[in-house]
Amino acid sequence: AQERYASLRGLPAQSKCGSITRLYMNAGLMADLPSIEGSGAEGVGLFRTELQFLIRNQMPKRDELARLYARVMDAAKGRPVAFRTLDIGSDKVLPYMKPQDEPNPAMGWRAIRVGLDKPGVLQMQAQALIRAARGRPLTVMFPFITELSEFTQARDVVLKQRDREAALGRPVPETLKIGAMLETPSLAFAPRAFFDLTDFISIGGNDLKQFFFAADRENERVRRRYDTLNVSFLRFLATISDRCRESDTPLSFCGEDAGRPVEAMCFAALGIGTLSMRPASIGPVKALLRQVDLREVRAVMQSAMDQGAESVRPAILGWLATLPE
Ligand code: PEP
Ligand code: MG
Repeated sequence: AQERYASLRGLPAQSKCGSITRLYMNAGLMADLPSIEGSGAEGVGLFRTELQFLIRNQMPKRDELARLYARVMDAAKGRPVAFRTLDIGSDKVLPYMKPQDEPNPAMGWRAIRVGLDKPGVLQMQAQALIRAARGRPLTVMFPFITELSEFTQARDVVLKQRDREAALGRPVPETLKIGAMLETPSLAFAPRAFFDLTDFISIGGNDLKQFFFAADRENERVRRRYDTLNVSFLRFLATISDRCRESDTPLSFCGEDAGRPVEAMCFAALGIGTLSMRPASIGPVKALLRQVDLREVRAVMQSAMDQGAESVRPAILGWLATLPE
C-alpha cells in the first residue's frame, strides 16, 4: 500500500465525478516541516502555534518567533500555511503562565478568549507572523471563535499590526487571509456577516464534536461513544457547508477525522472542499477519494438518512464493499 500511496503523490484527489478535494497537512513542530515536501500536501491547513510555546520554559520572544515562522514559510516553498494563533488553556497549559483553577477548562478561559482578554500575546504573535511573511502571502486563523464579534475583534488586532508595520515603512504580507476555526456549534448559526467577513472557515472537528455530542474528547469512557457519521452530526456539517457556499467562503476540516478515509470521503461529499490531516493520512485518503464518485456517496448518505438510520456508516461501508478494487 505504501508504494501505491507514493505513486499518487503528484496526483490530485480527484473523484470519479471530477471534483477535486484539496488535501493539506497539520503541523506544529519544526520536525514536521520535511513532510510538507514528502507527503504530497498542497499546504499546511493547520499550524498549531502553541506547540512552540509548550516546548519552552519561558515565553518566546517576538523576533525568535518571527524567525521560526519564516522557516516554516520557507519550508512550505510558496504553499499556503494557515497559522493558528495560540490555543492554550483546556488541555494545553503553559508552564510559565499562572494556572487557572477552572472547573471545566475545555469550556473555560482558553484560546481566543485569552487572546482577546490579554491581547499582548496575540499582538506579539501577529507582529511575528507579519514580519516573517515580509512580502509573501500570510494566512492566519483564530481558534475557538464562538461569535461574530470575537472574530471581528481578533481580526482587528491583526489588521492593526499590519497597518502599524506599514506605517513604520516595513514590508507587509503580499496578501493577508484571515479565517476562523469553527469549533463551537453556536458559530454555525452566526449572522451572515460572519461568513462574509471570514476569508475561510476551518472546522476543528475534535472540539466541535466534543461540544456537539457533549462528550469530553479527553475522556476515554465517552470520547468514541458517538459516531462521526451519526446523522445529527452530518446534518450539522451540511448546514455549515451550505452557509459557506451561500457566501462563497472556502471551507476546510482540520480535526483528526479528516485523516480517516471513510469520514474524509463523507465530508468531501458534503461539499467540504479542503481536508487537513496528519501527513501519513494523505495517501490513504487520496486513494479512496480517487476511487469514488462523490455524487454516489451523497446519494448513499441521503438514502440512509431518509430511512431513519442513526449513523450512515453501515450503509456507506456496505456500498464501499460493492466497489471494484
Ligand atoms: C480541533 O479541535 O479539531 C482542532 C483541529 O484543534 P485542536 O485539536 O488543536 O484543538
Ligand atoms: Mg480545537
